[in-house]
Amino acid sequence: MTSMTDKFNKQECIENIAKALGYDTLEELPHYDTINNFLCNLKNEELENIRDYMIKQLLKKRSLEDYRLLNKYWCIAIDATGLFSFSERHCEHCLKKEFKEKDKKTGEKTGNIEKTVYYHNVLEAKIIIGEMVFSIATEFVENEDENVSKQDCEIKAFKRLEIKLKKQYPHLPICILGDSLYACEPVFKICDKNKWKFLLRFKEGSIKSIAEEFNALKLIDGKRNEKCVWVRDVAYNERTVNVIETEIVVDDKKTSFVFITNIPITIKNDVFNNK
Ligand SMILES: [Zn+2]
Repeated sequence: MTSMTDKFNKQECIENIAKALGYDTLEELPHYDTINNFLCNLKNEELENIRDYMIKQLLKKRSLEDYRLLNKYWCIAIDATGLFSFSERHCEHCLKKEFKEKDKKTGEKTGNIEKTVYYHNVLEAKIIIGEMVFSIATEFVENEDENVSKQDCEIKAFKRLEIKLKKQYPHLPICILGDSLYACEPVFKICDKNKWKFLLRFKEGSIKSIAEEFNALKLIDGKRNEKCVWVRDVAYNERTVNVIETEIVVDDKKTSFVFITNIPITIKNDVFNNK
């Protein structure tokens, strides 16, 4: 709280907040403990309303148009973040993870539980604007109660997040970005239903049949340019998907990444050329 207070109590920040509140002058911001006390008493929806208003104004003013993917889609990244974790149950909604003990000599699991961690995650939908990201929808990943047979998870939370996103932005052309966890039928289905595009990280283990087909076809039938190789129209359940492999420099090292998408891939619309 003290470090938040120090960070925000800068002249530039104070002036911006004064301007936003319509004050002529503002000497300083309250201590973050005071702000936190206020926030604790506020319903989540109140904060969500403010955020929705801000994002909608930004979109309405059309000042961010340059950041649309292929001049059309807003990139919405979906990702979960850990909020807190505890060694003992903290509330009835905690997620629970048990770590199995391993035999020190053989490295094999003994069947005993070494430790249990109780934790809370939040799933965020963030709109990507160049190097900035703005939160546009939030869903907590948490169990209904202590006795649930199957715990809440990111994909279940995404199904709830989708309802919020669709309600707030029914006509927004969206492209969902996510890690390989999201390369699965429930996410494809949601995107199909909403006519959303998706561009997701893909790992061999994500969907075996697609990985096999891509690996075989990329050698025979794969289209390529100097940066990418791709295979179009790989059949999966009721639809076809496109798979694209590209090398991206991460920490000064060239690494190969595979992505799965329902965006039509052509030489002209190389999605990786986009800002
Ligand atoms: Zn808890």
